[in-house]
Amino acid sequence: MQTKYIFVTGGVVSSLGKGIISSSIGKLLQARGYRITIQKFDPYINIDPGTLNPYEHGECYVTNDGMETDLDLGHYERFTGIRTTRNNSVTTGRIYKTVIDRERHGDYLGKTIQVVPHITDEIKRRMLRQEDSTDYDFIITEVGGTIGDIESAPFMEAIRQLRWELGRNAVSVHLTYVPYLKAAGELKTKPTQHSVKEMQGMGIQPDILILRTELHLSDGIRSKVASFCNVDLECVVQSEDLPSIYEVPVNMQKQGLDAAILRKFAIPVGETPAMLPWHEFLNKQKTATTIVRIGLVGKYDLQDAYKSIRESLNLAGIYCGAKVKMEFINSEAITKQNVGELLEGFAGVLICPGFGQRGIEGKIIAAEYTRTHDIPTFGICLGMQMMVIEFARNVLGLSDANSREMDADTPHNVIDIMEDQKNITNMGGTMRLGAYACELREGSKVASIYKEAMISERHRHRYEFNNDYLTDYESHGMQCVGTNPESHLVEIVEIPDNRWYIGTQFHPEYSSTVLRPHPLFVSFISATLQSSC
Ligand code: GLN
Repeated sequence: MQTKYIFVTGGVVSSLGKGIISSSIGKLLQARGYRITIQKFDPYINIDPGTLNPYEHGECYVTNDGMETDLDLGHYERFTGIRTTRNNSVTTGRIYKTVIDRERHGDYLGKTIQVVPHITDEIKRRMLRQEDSTDYDFIITEVGGTIGDIESAPFMEAIRQLRWELGRNAVSVHLTYVPYLKAAGELKTKPTQHSVKEMQGMGIQPDILILRTELHLSDGIRSKVASFCNVDLECVVQSEDLPSIYEVPVNMQKQGLDAAILRKFAIPVGETPAMLPWHEFLNKQKTATTIVRIGLVGKYDLQDAYKSIRESLNLAGIYCGAKVKMEFINSEAITKQNVGELLEGFAGVLICPGFGQRGIEGKIIAAEYTRTHDIPTFGICLGMQMMVIEFARNVLGLSDANSREMDADTPHNVIDIMEDQKNITNMGGTMRLGAYACELREGSKVASIYKEAMISERHRHRYEFNNDYLTDYESHGMQCVGTNPESHLVEIVEIPDNRWYIGTQFHPEYSSTVLRPHPLFVSFISATLQSSC
């Protein structure tokens, strides 16, 4: 089958959940046996979101091949189990950089470089992915931002041209919002009509409309939208608020979204797939009753800042039949005096990743408290580094132990900068990024959790465990049970005498999916429940 292209855009307001819709479309087509990929095009100028503050943009997600990307790629992977790469994340900045580099190289032979056609051609080239398009039956492209934004205009122009060039091999899906006006007691379709008009003004007629709504839309409203917007009635689908984002694919399937898309491509629809594993997961989610309270010790009090960690805990909980209630504890507020009170009643504590000095002493105090009170503790990246520093200060007797990141002159640099990172001055994309192999020590807790001797996990950090201290740690009870086979960098520490006290230098949260929650998260939740699952 010739590769088909689906373009997902959003109108009216932002935050409608385009990422969830794109993931759901991917999931439904995959359930029909098609090979899919989903890519995100973001209109901002940053080359990638790696240097963006989590308050601005939520979590930075990392692909196996080491690209720092938008958190929507996390949804794509969790919903569909696909593994994305650097090709799946493109920003205006990257587009311009490619074009400008080419211009400096003389590739344009003295031509004037313009948004149309040079920028739009580069956008089209990346949307088409000719290098690997034959690997997929469907390439779903989600465009960030909202119709009408100045920044997204070149992307819309690229979609317009592609729809013209690809004919029946391209479909446009547009997500809009139908607000409910309480005073009038009415659901309003006018913003949707305007958004579609705006698209039509750019030369794009959407094929499918998905209406986000807080209340159920009657058939009357759907037909009104259909006739005002030149869209078939079966192509107007509603996306009501649901208790869980993972119910969205099923809700879309019930309304025939995947069938409507296939018909637009003139592909025979066939039987509706049962998606049994997905339904099993949803049932588990509905019937999960035990509540398990997990404390997240971090510095970004924002849901999206630790998106993949939250989802990984949530998915592992469901797998274990439990509802994970996550509570954020600002590490800046933690002191030796209040730590007992702040961590009171948590079945487990997760010490979050992060950068910079702010809030680290609180993380260290939390790590000491949970270690000495034998509370299941999971430290990720900076969280693991803080476990290591705490252990040095309070067990190895190195009271001034620190990370080189926090104190450049520390005499006991138990966490140090890597040799090849020392002279780096450029911040973007220069950390240790992406998947690296890790060998697990036989007989360790992590080896029994993974049930494998060699694993591969994704990284995003500049600092490392300092191997000069390794024997000291091991003889005092903190074991370095995961190491990189080539560089011998320490990737995992654990305290076997504690119930569950594990820190990972890598980010396991990036590879947890709905149908395969990550074993470390499952094991952590299982320890907090004091049962095996
Ligand atoms: N700041 C630490 C480092 O660069 C940890 C990074 C992280 O938690 N992702 O090594």
